[in-house]
Amino acid sequence: MYELLKRIVADCAPSASLGHVATYIPELANVDPNKLGIYVSSEDGKQYFAGDHLEPFTMQSVVKPLILLQALMDSGEDAVRTLVGVEATGKPFDAFNYSDQALNSANINPMINTGAIALCTLIHGETYEEKFSRLLALARKLAGNPELNVDHAVYVSEKKTGNKNRALGYMLTAYGMITDPVEEILDCYFRACSISVNCRDLARIAHIFANHGIHPETWEQMFPATYAKYVNATLATCGMYDGSGEFALAVGFPAKSGVGGGIMGVIPHRMGIGVFAPALDKHGNSVAGVQALAKLSQILDLSIY
Ligand code: GLU
Repeated sequence: MYELLKRIVADCAPSASLGHVATYIPELANVDPNKLGIYVSSEDGKQYFAGDHLEPFTMQSVVKPLILLQALMDSGEDAVRTLVGVEATGKPFDAFNYSDQALNSANINPMINTGAIALCTLIHGETYEEKFSRLLALARKLAGNPELNVDHAVYVSEKKTGNKNRALGYMLTAYGMITDPVEEILDCYFRACSISVNCRDLARIAHIFANHGIHPETWEQMFPATYAKYVNATLATCGMYDGSGEFALAVGFPAKSGVGGGIMGVIPHRMGIGVFAPALDKHGNSVAGVQALAKLSQILDLSIY
């Protein structure tokens, strides 16, 4: 397996040249586009890795499954479903062209920005500081890494420039979907996106989703299996932006990507995978990361379809 991962990293790294690092969050433009790392938390209880698997990067949208999970755990499935639907939009993650249709729960999902921003309101906490602290604690617990923290430079950079997300927040308010102060909700969302992780962290979190909430080493039920199935299902249909259909064909398992270049892959009942390669395709998915997952899926027969 080590050899296989090494070969995949060597084969896929050059395809970084086909993509571009995200620049709309200025701080993300500073990363080295040629990095590629992969980490597998495997069904045999072993961990395998290759390349830049310990390189830190910010979660960005990979945090959305955790926002959804925390909202489910705190407010329950009915409240989550009432606020945010589950249908794929076929639009970019930050689209705000809702003018031809009312913005309502039926046409947003937890894996696009609008849905994730709305779901921050369902996380328990007296203040948005406290809501964020609880989300960070969940990320630390699932990754088994108490050191996880916010990359302050990326957080400040996104907060300064995140006007599209600001527009989405105010639209949610205008359509009566949220009532809390938008800037506070967004601050929680920006901090969440700026949590710094590596491939190992993502693989460990993914493995727990793959095991339906059961920790692969301690066998502790970390959260209800029904919530794992809820999250995994939304990852399968909407996790890879408006490239989710192509990803289902080429790779074939639930996954979430982020514009920081990370992808978290969940192979139900089998394993969790974390990859990182920051050059992105036109949808915002890591080019070399998707290619590496496609190769691994083909060789290990990981498609669930
Ligand atoms: N923080 C990013 C944003 O809201 C996340 C986008 C992404 O990774 O898809 O624009």
